Amino acid sequence: MTDSALLPTYARLPVRFVRGQGCRLWDENGDEYLDAVAGIAVCALGHCHPDVTAVLREQVGVLVHTSNLYRIEPQEALANRLAEASGMERAFFCNSGAEANECALKIARLHAARKNITSPEVLVVEGAFHGRTLMTLSASSGARVRDGFAPYAEGFVRVGFNDLPMMQAALAQHPNAVAVLIEPIQGEGGVRPVDDDYLVGLRKLCDAHDALLILDEVQTGMGRTGRLFAYQHAGILPDAVTLAKALGNGYPIGACLTRGAAATALTAGQHGTTFGGSHLACRVGLSVLDALDREQLPERAEQLGKTLMERFHAALAELPGIESIRGRGLMIGIELSEPVPDLVARALQARLLINVTQERVIRLLPPLVMSDEEADLLCERLIPLLAEAAGGTA
Ligand SMILES: *Cc1c(COP(=O)(O)O)cnc(C)c1O
Repeated sequence: MTDSALLPTYARLPVRFVRGQGCRLWDENGDEYLDAVAGIAVCALGHCHPDVTAVLREQVGVLVHTSNLYRIEPQEALANRLAEASGMERAFFCNSGAEANECALKIARLHAARKNITSPEVLVVEGAFHGRTLMTLSASSGARVRDGFAPYAEGFVRVGFNDLPMMQAALAQHPNAVAVLIEPIQGEGGVRPVDDDYLVGLRKLCDAHDALLILDEVQTGMGRTGRLFAYQHAGILPDAVTLAKALGNGYPIGACLTRGAAATALTAGQHGTTFGGSHLACRVGLSVLDALDREQLPERAEQLGKTLMERFHAALAELPGIESIRGRGLMIGIELSEPVPDLVARALQARLLINVTQERVIRLLPPLVMSDEEADLLCERLIPLLAEAAGGTA
């Protein structure tokens, strides 16, 4: 079979996986791979986690979907669980990260209307990625995401990355700014974390300007950085936080969590979704939260992330072709000074799945359930490849 009946939106690797378990995937030939991508930070519990699989199987035979015309018990339960875990108050459930951000941006527009601002602006930062819809690509940086899709949605102001004085100046210059939208660690942008102090400062700036602080935790959320939500490292609360990727461990579900003014902006009829928040999706979301909690996976991400970073530092940091090694928990970026076009293919040949973003940042997003032995294997397979690419030997 070929893929010529598909729109060519992806340059796919020449492999088709047929089965997965934990951090392992198997292709059509039965060859086994170690997965340090996890479906782009989605399968945080690993492939086919037994609890999630059991809940999926069970709920499929009970009730899949009724629509949001009716109350949905697991949706209410998931909203409560997320509120308790996040410090937020109310949730809207959808099917993807971009949709979660759309919801947050619509809330920002309603917040503007309440303030009698008719041409509101949302401050975003250089290097951001918020999704592929027209609104969210307008909020994003990067030619790959944006080029060809003008005219862009109005009302976004781009500010330098991790630069508090610049954000302060931008808020002062833009009295119509009603929200700041930012990722705690840029994912597609190259695993670039903002400082905890920056988030603390941003919280104060937003308070001073009555602007909503919206955190896009679609990639960082659900335990990957060592806390359930990355903002918890900084000890702040945003006004809205968006989730998706790992919330369903592969079953599509997104969420926009809100509190305070952001939780009271939308009224009945102003926003909606046919599929979002179904019985099935929310049962899965609940089972993911249960497993993260029971298996203490945020803690595991923090601890294993530290170990891996130390090992990468020791083996690679001094090599001429390594620019930096950074990240938090199990969201790790290794930046090379030059692009290495065939690195992902060579890793695949070594039976290791890695991702490269921004052409020269190796992005590791392994399942949080990765064992010590699997982490050893990851190092064994990755370090020699990177050492060679970076002009040294491991
Ligand atoms: C993946 C991602 C999105 C988009 O999510 P989709 O589910 O692909 O729409 C938005 N923001 C961030 C930070 C992401 O990593």
